[in-house]
Amino acid sequence: MSKTLVNATAVLCHLLEQAKPTVNGTTLLSGPFGEGGHELVRERLLVFGPTLTYVTCPDCEVETARVVRTVSVDQILLNCDECGEVDAERALLQTYTVSLSRLIDRLVSSLALPPTSVKVIDIDLSWRLGIEEHKRGKAQTWYFARHLNDHAIAKRLLEQIRADNAAQSAKIITSSDTPLPDGSPLSEYGVVNLAAVARLSQSRFIFFDDRVEVTLSQPDEESIPTTSLRYVREKAWAYVDGVKYELEGMQQKILLALMDAHAHRLEGKEIADRCGSEAFPFQPAKYFGRNNEVYRAFIKYVPGDKVYELNISKREP
Ligand SMILES: [Zn+2]
Repeated sequence: MSKTLVNATAVLCHLLEQAKPTVNGTTLLSGPFGEGGHELVRERLLVFGPTLTYVTCPDCEVETARVVRTVSVDQILLNCDECGEVDAERALLQTYTVSLSRLIDRLVSSLALPPTSVKVIDIDLSWRLGIEEHKRGKAQTWYFARHLNDHAIAKRLLEQIRADNAAQSAKIITSSDTPLPDGSPLSEYGVVNLAAVARLSQSRFIFFDDRVEVTLSQPDEESIPTTSLRYVREKAWAYVDGVKYELEGMQQKILLALMDAHAHRLEGKEIADRCGSEAFPFQPAKYFGRNNEVYRAFIKYVPGDKVYELNISKREP
């Protein structure tokens, strides 16, 4: 690498694109990564990896050199077959590795997604971060992946997007260089490089809103619910236009099934399963003979997809 990467997010992406996201201390802290490496350690996105006993000789940069002994707190003595005894910094032996779990947590919290919604797609490679709901009813499903220039990894992410019914709402962030190579299974999708859309700040990524249209959750403006599912789980109440409706058991179960479902969409059969009902075909409307206002406010059937969907444009947090 010739150009110094001063941007911590760019350093992070570079490490994530290696097979193992690990680097030795000399390269990370005093080498071409510059300030970015220090920032990643400070932000605890890098954690200590194993301490090496063999390293590439810093003099010839070809042979493997063995650690002979420690000279001082920060100096060691190496032995290289080509160069003989070589003094080196102790930092050369210390490795750092990206904490993938912290990285994913950081992305989720920075996007203000619910922390429980993360799903691993490919272990250590791709994740569904969660769904961001807008008040106006349009949801976005966020994904993060490494090594997306590998078509096999891109293909498995694409399959998950399809399984999530998220073809229209998918937002894909990657550590890979974009645009993805020709022929990528994700070529139809707007895939963005993390370093191009965000920068690392204290304990969070700051997304450049104009580039990814990130809308963070708005705080509640009022405490008295007008149209809300806020009390469905604990109290079995739903509010429509300021009126409180006390839900029957099956009504509560149907609403909770949709509230807890991915993208808040389920087929009739899936709702029945989650509500412990054997009825077939299962028609949620039948259970809202009483409280029909609640059904009309919150549940709609999407004929093309044959699914029931929670009307999130009506829903307050
Ligand atoms: Zn050497």
